Amino acid sequence: MPLRGRLAPTPTGLLHVGHALTFARAAERAAGAGLVMRIEDLDRDRCRPEYAAAALDDLRWLGLDWTEGPDVGGPHAPYEQSRRGAWFLDVWRRLEAAGAIYPSPHSRRDVEEAASAPHGPATGSDPTPPEPIFPAALRPTERERASSPGGVAWRFRVPDGRVISFDDARLGRVARTAGVDFGDFVVWRRDDLAAYELAVVADDHAMEIEEVVRGADLLTSTARQLLLYEALEWQPPQWCHAPLVVDAEGRRLAKRSGGLAIRELRARGLSPADVLRWPAV
Ligand code: GLU
Repeated sequence: MPLRGRLAPTPTGLLHVGHALTFARAAERAAGAGLVMRIEDLDRDRCRPEYAAAALDDLRWLGLDWTEGPDVGGPHAPYEQSRRGAWFLDVWRRLEAAGAIYPSPHSRRDVEEAASAPHGPATGSDPTPPEPIFPAALRPTERERASSPGGVAWRFRVPDGRVISFDDARLGRVARTAGVDFGDFVVWRRDDLAAYELAVVADDHAMEIEEVVRGADLLTSTARQLLLYEALEWQPPQWCHAPLVVDAEGRRLAKRSGGLAIRELRARGLSPADVLRWPAV
């Protein structure tokens, strides 16, 4: 049965074949149930409207069609995250009131220096890249109350040792251990923007998304997001993590490898069907 889904490009560059294949899968799985186009342009320094417009154009060229979005409208507008800041702040307040998050003044460098060696499950069908784990020693000892994020990063305090598991439509049961596979994660940035994990959960909930289709490099993020759904007392969506694209030798490609922008493949004369047949594992 199709489930209401979404496409969520981040317009920091031209759309890459890997994202396009994930989006094609999302569109196919949601066919008939509604599909939201949401532009994840929160990072104003790195995102550009030209890239958002190019992504919509490339996806249309591939034959994808959405039922709600910046170009077609719909009941959940606006569809650009840069215009949804008040909603994210509301979600920040709910997490703060629940005692789930805390201000974390440590710089990225402090964290990297104090973090244990990157750890992670990257094997076989589970390609999540290892990541540095935020050291519990850097958590504050007292809980501070605040009425606004106030120029400091905020982290979600994870339940150390708890196994977070979920059923993925393609991979079956997936599990991550809080405090081992990932640590306390940023939900609000020091530059006063919602961080990815908060914004994506806030909007998937607000836009009534029933199944999230995303790349398998985000499996650990899904575990983080399940903790946010729990703290917010929201029903989480279902999940399908798509395979990652590979090159001619079967190696997984980094997100923005040169020459794999849909724009460039179009310019080389590939058809939408050629692009959609790109190998992935
Ligand atoms: N905007 C995110 C990306 O492009 C979306 C990830 C997700 O599907 O949650 O990586």
